[in-house]
This record gives sequence, structure tokens and C-alpha cells, in this order.
Amino acid sequence: MSPELICPCGRIIKDASEFKLLYLKKELNEIDILCPNDNCYLREVGYIKFEIVDGKPKFKEASFYPPFVTWNASQMGREAALAELKNTLKKLVERIDWSMIKPVEAKT
Ligand SMILES: [Zn+2]
Repeated sequence: MSPELICPCGRIIKDASEFKLLYLKKELNEIDILCPNDNCYLREVGYIKFEIVDGKPKFKEASFYPPFVTWNASQMGREAALAELKNTLKKLVERIDWSMIKPVEAKT
């Protein structure tokens, strides 16, 4: 049984698929990770960064923001929380729809 993540807003996240990915900051090479609770006061709980290599998006790094990390560490213990957060990020990266990220065409 894997530990459940919990957002400071109270939402329990049983599976990485519950998080929402937002592709609004494409030009910043960043994808936002949003809490599944629409009324969450944090909304954005983490990010995934990528870079464009040879015209294709390539994963660079992913992280949850400190308030989310700290809260989960206080709920389930730091070690368990860090392991679960890392695991969740890995699953989120696997879920990225890279076709949503089309690099801006270079003007000729
Ligand atoms: Zn939340």
C-alpha cells in the first residue's frame, strides 16, 4: 500500500492521475501541476520543466513546491513523503502529453 499524498487544502490524492497538468506556460518551458480540488487555495502545487532539444520537448526537472512538500512531510514523515512525492512526479512526467507542447516555429 502506497501512502496517500494530501494537499494542505485537505484533498487526499490517491493517485498521480488525479493531479491536473496545465500547459499554459509553454513559452517558459514549464507545465504546472495543479491540485485536483478546484477550490484549493494553493492551486499550483508543483511544476515540470522541460527544454527544447532539436525541436522536441525533453524533460528537464520536476518538483513540488515547498508548502506541499512540508505539509506531506508533517503528515507521513519526511522520508516517506519524499519517496512518495518523487514517485508521483515520475508518474506525472509519464503522463505528459508532449503533443500539447509544440515548439514555436522559427521564422524564416
Ligand atoms: Zn489543494
